[in-house]
This record gives sequence, C-alpha cells and structure tokens, in this order.
Amino acid sequence: MTISHAKRRAPAGRIAYVDGRYLPHPHAAVHIEDRGLQFADSVYEVFAVTGGALLDEDAHLKRLARSLGELGIAQPLPPAALSFVMREVVRRNRLRDGLIYVQVTRGSYARDHVVPKDARGTVIVTARRLDPAAIEARRSSGVKVKTEPDIRWGRCDIKATALLPNVLAKTEARRAGAYEAWLVDRDGKVTEGTSTNAWIVDSRGRVVTRVLSNNILAGVTRSTLMRAAAAAGLTIEERSFTVEDARQAREAFVTSATGGVIPVVEIDGIRIGDGVPGSTTLRMHALYRDLAQKEARISLGFASQSG
Ligand code: PLP
Repeated sequence: MTISHAKRRAPAGRIAYVDGRYLPHPHAAVHIEDRGLQFADSVYEVFAVTGGALLDEDAHLKRLARSLGELGIAQPLPPAALSFVMREVVRRNRLRDGLIYVQVTRGSYARDHVVPKDARGTVIVTARRLDPAAIEARRSSGVKVKTEPDIRWGRCDIKATALLPNVLAKTEARRAGAYEAWLVDRDGKVTEGTSTNAWIVDSRGRVVTRVLSNNILAGVTRSTLMRAAAAAGLTIEERSFTVEDARQAREAFVTSATGGVIPVVEIDGIRIGDGVPGSTTLRMHALYRDLAQKEARISLGFASQSG
C-alpha cells in the first residue's frame, strides 16, 4: 500500500521503521484501527540530530518511558533496543542534520474507549532532514510570537500526540505572521509555546521560565539549558510570568529540541527590548549547544578525539 499524502516531497530513499520493519517511507503505515489514530492514544518524542549524532538522547528516552508509564502503555521496545533502531534509521537515511521522530501507540484493536488488556504497542520511527542554515537564520533574526488561550487538558506534562489545541494555536499564529503561539492560562500567565518552552529575561536581567507542573511539558532542552546555565554560575528563576511581564521583558526566547534556543523579538505586535535577539538569549543558546553537543560526543565515544 502506498500512502499518497506521505509521498509529498519524501526525499528519495527515505526509510521509516514501523513495528519491527524498515520500509520505504511511502509504504510505511499503521492499521486504520490503531489507537493512535482513533483516540490519540499514543505518545511521542522528537530527537534533534546534529552531525549524525542524537542530542540529549538519554533524557528524551527517559521522558518517553515516563509518558508511557503515566498512561499505562507497555514499552514495546526496551530503551536500548529503541536507541539501536533510532541509530539505524539515522544511518539508513544518511541523516546528518535533522530530527528523529518516535511515536508509540497503544496498538491496533477493535475501536473501544476502554483500554485493551495487555495491549501490544506500535512503534514508529521516522527521520527528517532540517536545514541548519534555516534554523540559524531564525536565530539571527529572532521570531514573532502571538498569544492564544491555553485550552489543553490537565496532563500537558505527558508528551501525548493529542495536539489539536497546539495545532490550532500554532496555525492561528502563522496566519497572523508569527512563528509560534504562546499559550496563556486563565490567570493570564504564559504556560508554554505550542511546541516550545517559553522564557523571558526580565527588566533586572533575570532569566525566567515557568516552574514544572502538569500544565507544561518538561522540555529536555529546558533542562539541559538549566544544567548548562548552572555550570556557568547563572541562576534561572522558575516562576510564572504574565503576558504583560513578557511584553515588558528585556528579552524573550523559546526552547525546543529542533531549534535549541530561538530569540523572540515581538509578542502580539509589541517589540521586545530592542527588537533584536538579546545577548543573554544568545549566550543561553551557546551554553545549551556546547553542553548538548559535548554530551552527544561522549555518548558516541568521541570524547577523546574531539574534546
Ligand atoms: N512544550 C511543548 C508543548 C512541546 O511540544 C515541546 C517540544 O515538542 C517543548 C515544550 C520543548 O520540549 P523539548 O525541549 O524536549 O523539545
């Protein structure tokens, strides 16, 4: 079977993994009764690949295990086996810079809201090339953000594929000429972006991001950046901030696996600081990148060669 929409610009030779098999991307498919499709009964992870190496691999695998555990989805592949599959997908796609997408669904069963007993999950692993120059261009120019009400469920700490509110908010943002939407809770506080964590540098130069709870995803980039900042002797304040705080901020930025640290220069049409990427933000990116790449090299066993 060929999935016609998946043909869209699939680079020649692109290979996906589905449930034990490596398949040409246009032929990779799950069953129509897969619970991931029927109920969004599934979780996912996105791993950045830089120079052929997976960044923050252990932390993403750990979060995947946690998401599965919180939903009671049995882990179909042990982390070491999944890690092998991901590397194999990187290799078969000759991926240097891009991302590895992993999705685990609760599997394919006759449609029933009740979770089947002893369900056997489906694992999907795909690779996608990203243009590092395009990401760097975004970093140099900074991006615009639009705020949208946060209408998501109460377990945003689980990286579930039930992303409809995120999809709608990001689409609204893009239609308005912004790159990302920042989601705002009922108290007027920013929770996070639709696919990023949200940060500001306040008028006193303090770097602030929302504290972890069920209301946001514990971003791996967020956590690596916090470790990198701590190692550099910088303090990050974990606290909520309002949209008004963000508009008054000196700098703002977002973090995610695929972009690292991306400066925000405008929120709802209001310029942040000088309207250009700020020095603290760019320093945060350098700290994040250096630590993530160093750890990726160590996990590849290249530490002694490349320092
Ligand atoms: N918040 C949400 C809602 C996300 O979907 C993501 C990433 O997809 C993030 C934050 C950033 O998380 P990470 O740094 O692990 O990519």
